[in-house]
Parts: sequence; C-alpha cells; structure tokens
Amino acid sequence: MSQTNRFVGKTALITGGAGEIGFATAKALAEEGALIALMDINGEKCSEAAKRLSGICETVRTYICDVSDSTAVETQVKQIVADFGSLDLLFNNAGFQGAFKPIHEYPIDDFETVIRINLIGAFNILRSVSGVMVAQGGGCIVNTASMAGVDGPPNMAAYGASKFALIGLTGTAAKDLAPYGIRVNAISPSFMGPGFMWDRQVQLQAEANTQYFSTDPKVVAEQMIGSVPMRRYGDINEIPGVVTFLMSNDSSYITGVNIPISGGIR
Ligand code: NAD
Repeated sequence: MSQTNRFVGKTALITGGAGEIGFATAKALAEEGALIALMDINGEKCSEAAKRLSGICETVRTYICDVSDSTAVETQVKQIVADFGSLDLLFNNAGFQGAFKPIHEYPIDDFETVIRINLIGAFNILRSVSGVMVAQGGGCIVNTASMAGVDGPPNMAAYGASKFALIGLTGTAAKDLAPYGIRVNAISPSFMGPGFMWDRQVQLQAEANTQYFSTDPKVVAEQMIGSVPMRRYGDINEIPGVVTFLMSNDSSYITGVNIPISGGIR
C-alpha cells in the first residue's frame, strides 16, 4: 500500500487496462487516490480487472474499445469525461507484440495489425485525450513504448517500428502540448517476466531459428538475460512506480523523455 496520495481527485485513463502492466499501474494509481477509467478491447478481462480494483478504488469504470478505431475512441473519451467530469492522467498503454519473423518473411497483415494497434491506436488516444486536457488547461500523459523501439531487436519488425514511432510521437506531443501545461513522456520496458509475454517471446524467438538465438527456448531465455547488465528480467511490478513518478508533480520539469526500464542499457 502506498504511503502517499499524489492523485486524490484525479481521473486516470489506462488503456490496455486489463493487461498485466495496465492493471498493475491502475492499482498503483488507485492506491494513491486516483479515480480509474479502464479501457481495453477485452470486455471480460476488463470487468475482472475492475472487480479486483473495486476494493482499492473510490470509482472504477470500464470502457470496452478498440483503440485503433478512431470513432470509437472519440465516443469513449467523451463518455469518460461525462462520467468523471475531468480527465487528468493518461497511461497510453494498449499494445500487441505481433509475429517473430525475419523481415523478408514477415507477414504483411501482421505488420499492419501491429502498426494499427501500437501506433495508430496510441495516436487516436493521444489526440482525443489531449483535446480534453487542452480544454481543461493541464494533464499528464505516459506512453508505453519498449526497448524494442530503441534497439531494433531481430525478428520484430512491426513491433520495433511501432514503438520507435511512438517514442518519436512522444517527443512531438511533448512540444505541441507544453504550452497547455501538459507533460508527455514514455517508458520503455525491456524483458519483463515471468508470464505470458516473456514465455511467448522466448518461444517465438526460438522458433524464428535465426543466428541471434538458439532454437531451444530455455537457451533463448539465458541468452536474453545474459544481454542485460543486471542479469535478470524485470518484474511487472517494477513499472508502476516509474509511471506514477512521471504522472506526479515529482517530475514537474520532465517532458518529452523516454525512460528505459531495462536493467541497464544493453
Ligand atoms: P498484455 O497483453 O497483458 O496487455 C495488453 C492489453 O492491451 C491487453 O489487455 C489487450 O487486450 C489490450 N489490447 C490489445 N489490443 C487492443 C486494442 N486494439 N484496443 C484496446 N486494447 C487492446 O501485455 P502487457 O505486458 O501488459 O503490455 C502492455 C504494454 O506494454 C504494451 O504496449 C506492450 O507493448 C508494452 N510492453 C510490454 C513488455 C513486456 O515484456 N510485458 C515489454 C515492453 C513493452
């Protein structure tokens, strides 16, 4: 349980709020007094997440929405403002990892899907919510990028490209919105585990069968951890503290920054 109450009276929207990082961050924000709007494409998981938050949070509501659908995003953001009266904090976090294939074999439809969710979806949310924040005269935004958007890992063309672009978008949004008292930053988690995304990437990097990784998932896990200066993967629970720092007045002179959560730059 947090010792501080930095977000009392603030409304926070978390996209991908039913997922691991979204939920952990929503919980941290709720523990510090925020009212929570959870958005996700997965209605069932989103309701479960809201139920788990209801004991912690004064108000939690769910918004089922595909972030890549700009009309649906506009409608849902308007609904959030109608329900809560304001929208102060945004964790722009919904994402999809996509396929693991070398670029000459990379599936075209998967490339389009990943870009639609991770980049166009993030833009749709950023555009709608920042409109509300401009009218309000302030707010704080954190985008979830990835170390894949910094170092271009093998076999992850779509995901890496989408997150590189999101880091660029963070820089532009920070400049465009600074005159309105809105800060925009990004986080870039690296290898996080244990759990679904860790197991999935270890398995799929092995199956990709390229010179960079073994075809044995156990060895792939060792290779990945061996590339991290701290020699371990990160825990999902090492993310929310960074996001809440970036959303609080503790970081009041920080905007346009991308913070790696990576166990040391590889
Ligand atoms: P997760 O799969 O647990 O959560 C992602 C959530 O996004 C899911 O609940 C999913 O339903 C939702 N989502 C997917 N497509 C959507 C859409 N079109 N509209 C609305 N919601 C949608 O994964 P996570 O690890 O919690 O990932 C959260 C973010 O962190 C993602 O942007 C991901 O790329 C990023 N990230 C994760 C890791 C990691 O290792 N877990 C590392 C770096 C970056």
